[in-house]
This record gives sequence, C-alpha cells and structure tokens, in this order.
Amino acid sequence: MDKSSRIYIAGHMGLVGSAIHQALTNKGYKNLICKTHDELDLCNAEATARFFQTEKPDYVFIAAAKVGGIQANLKYPADFLYQNLMIASHLIHQSYLHNIQKLLFLGSSCIYPKHSPQPISEHDLLTGPLEYTNEPYAIAKIAGIKLCQTYNRQHGCHFISAMPCNLYGINDNFNTETGHVIPALMKRMLDARISNQPYVEIWGTGNPLREFLHADDLANACVLIMEKTCKKDIINIGSGEEISIRDLALLIKKITKYKGELIFNESQPDGTPRKILNSSVIRQMGWNPKISLEKGLLQIYKTVFN
Ligand code: GDP
Repeated sequence: MDKSSRIYIAGHMGLVGSAIHQALTNKGYKNLICKTHDELDLCNAEATARFFQTEKPDYVFIAAAKVGGIQANLKYPADFLYQNLMIASHLIHQSYLHNIQKLLFLGSSCIYPKHSPQPISEHDLLTGPLEYTNEPYAIAKIAGIKLCQTYNRQHGCHFISAMPCNLYGINDNFNTETGHVIPALMKRMLDARISNQPYVEIWGTGNPLREFLHADDLANACVLIMEKTCKKDIINIGSGEEISIRDLALLIKKITKYKGELIFNESQPDGTPRKILNSSVIRQMGWNPKISLEKGLLQIYKTVFN
C-alpha cells in the first residue's frame, strides 16, 4: 500500500473499523474510502457492486459485521448467520471482480472448535464442533475464510483472514444486554454505582477464561499485515494474556469504583471455557500489543463515561 492508495474500510464506524481508520490516518494514508450503513447496505449485492464500480478501491479491509455478545448471538442467530454471510460474500466477490490488490477479512477466535488444544493455532480450524452460542456467527466467518482461500487458489487473489481474540475499545456497544462482556459490565456497574444498587449481576459462573485485546492494538496488526508480504492466509491476533470472567469483573469493579456485591447468575450461559490464541505468526511479523488490559479499561472508562 502506498500513501495515496484507495483503501476501503468496510465498517469504519465500528469497534475495529474505526480503529483501523485511525491507524491508517496516523500513518499518513490519505485516500480512505468509507460508507455508512445508510449509504451502502452490504447485504445488498447490487448496491455493493455499484459501489465497487464507482469507487474502484485498491485495498479492502472487511471490518463490517453483525456482532454482539453471547445473548445477542443466542437471540438473533438467523441475523448473525445471514448478514455475515452476505457481507463476506458480496465484498470478497466484488474484490475479486475488481482486481483488488490485497484484502483483509476480519473474523474472530470463536471460529475455532470449542475444545481446541490451547493455545489455538490457525491449523485447528475445522477440526471439531463449534461452541453452540457462537455457531451461526462462526459458520459465516468460516465461510468468509474459505472464500478468501478459494479465491486465492482459483483466481490468484491476495486475500488474508485475521482472527482476533475477544476485543474491546472506545467504539464498542455499551448495551448491557446485547454487548460483549467488557462494555456490558462497565455500563452495568456504573449504572449500579450511580443508583446505589447493592449488587450487580454477572452472567455465568465467572470461570471462563478470555483473552482480550484493545482494538487499537488489533488495528496496528491489521495495517502491518496489509503493508508486509506474508505467506499465510489465516493469522491469529491475540494479546497472549488470559483472565477469568470473575477477575475481569473485579477489575471493572475497581475501575468503575463500584462498591456493591457481584452476583454470578449461573442460569446464564458461560460459552466456551477457554480460547487463547497462538499468535506466533503475527509476533514473528514484528507486531506486539502495547495496551495492557487495565490501561485499556481505564482509557475506555475515562473516554466514554467522563
Ligand atoms: P464470548 O467470548 O463470545 O462468550 O463473548 P461475550 O463477551 O459475550 O462473553 C464472554 C464471557 O463473559 C461469557 O462467559 C459470558 O457468560 C460472560 N459474561 C458475564 N457477564 C456478561 C455480560 O453482562 N454480558 C456478556 N456479553 N457476557 C457476560
């Protein structure tokens, strides 16, 4: 990529897309192409085709997706499967038709089997059953990875998939019901502090382990993958640090200065027990995360809620 390349960031308003936009801007890329959901519905094949015809991007980042926390995935499985399949299919096919030089497709660590050996390597894809709560989203993302691989094989494209661990950042969804665990707990504890509630509910047992990465760290990895030559077509991106949901809740309690009790509601699902990634490929490419979990949580707390 050079600084005047036409770079399309699909999903530039979201958690990951906005961080990629910022990372590219910081590095001096000047020709960023962005469309809001209202301007371009990526589930619409004709509209997506028209957009590529008109804008003629050179590079594409696919950070657009229907995303949500464990309950949103359970409640809207058809939306997660359909919309993510459409977004991946339309963008990858149009990128092939328009000879895009390089494309980065973003997935998630939930594409790997529920009982993968830990840490999970890229080779573990499709070696066992998926976690039930994530299955529709994961199937759509696996289809996207396979589209990238098959277009590379059949048509000589240069499409790469990046699989990040659990993410968090400023442009997250802070809805307590549909968001992921970090924004949901931060909002719930803050509300509880303000209204003097004696306890806050945490879903599940608190035992699952998760690996969290700040969206800004992920964005730097994504830009690096697009700038460098790399032979792999799937690349894990994780912080290498695991924390239990119980310890995460305690950390958020400290940051939000909530003084009440934490109650674990075991009638809510835990999801997968553990999913730490083997990120040796991206580390060998020279990337390292810079934002510790505590520092990242503090930054979000101060930026979003102050
Ligand atoms: P997952 O990695 O796909 O399961 O993503 P989530 O961020 O939705 O959930 C991570 C873990 O946090 C799961 O074990 C959830 O049960 C647990 N969790 C605890 N409280 C909450 C909450 O309020 N919202 C969400 N989304 N998860 C929670």
